Amino acid sequence: MPQKDPEARKRYIAEWYRKNRERLLAYAKEYREAHQDEVSDVKKRIYHERYKIDPEYKARVHIYQKKRRKEKPEHVKSIERRSREKTGNKALLKYQAAHSRSDGRRARTTVNRAVRTGKLPNASTLPCATCAAPAREYHHHLGYERSNWLMVIPVCAQCHKDHHAALRGSPFAASQASDISMCK
Ligand SMILES: [Zn+2]
Ligand SMILES: [Zn+2]
Repeated sequence: MPQKDPEARKRYIAEWYRKNRERLLAYAKEYREAHQDEVSDVKKRIYHERYKIDPEYKARVHIYQKKRRKEKPEHVKSIERRSREKTGNKALLKYQAAHSRSDGRRARTTVNRAVRTGKLPNASTLPCATCAAPAREYHHHLGYERSNWLMVIPVCAQCHKDHHAALRGSPFAASQASDISMCK
């Protein structure tokens, strides 16, 4: 490389890449195909590292994914299908349950905020709706739909457990997570 001036070097390198573009792309493609697993591992690692260090990264990825979904819905679906086949449906269902719009986390957050701002009294100042012992927490007796986020009854710890145990086998179990941790 003959140039000493940094700007000239930059130009020289850029020019070199332009000239060898086809060859480099072909090489990269060959490499990716020969090392598929390795490449996907590296991509995953980079994703997670950036995700952790850059708080804006998640938002950017979200916007990008939305855009891709709009531009190439079939392509995105095929990627999702592939990842489903790889990990099984379980992970996806778990993710959807944790992020669905009507999920218990958001219902719980709403209740906590209501208590903080005085919209709801603290559950511990009320009697349990089931057994009248001092209540400890609120239970979403109508489920976690957005319209029911503040539809709660005060319950003691034991009755809360019982409510969720009763839900477990019931047809409401899907809309109303039987997992008690969703309420608390
Ligand atoms: Zn009770
Ligand atoms: Zn509950």
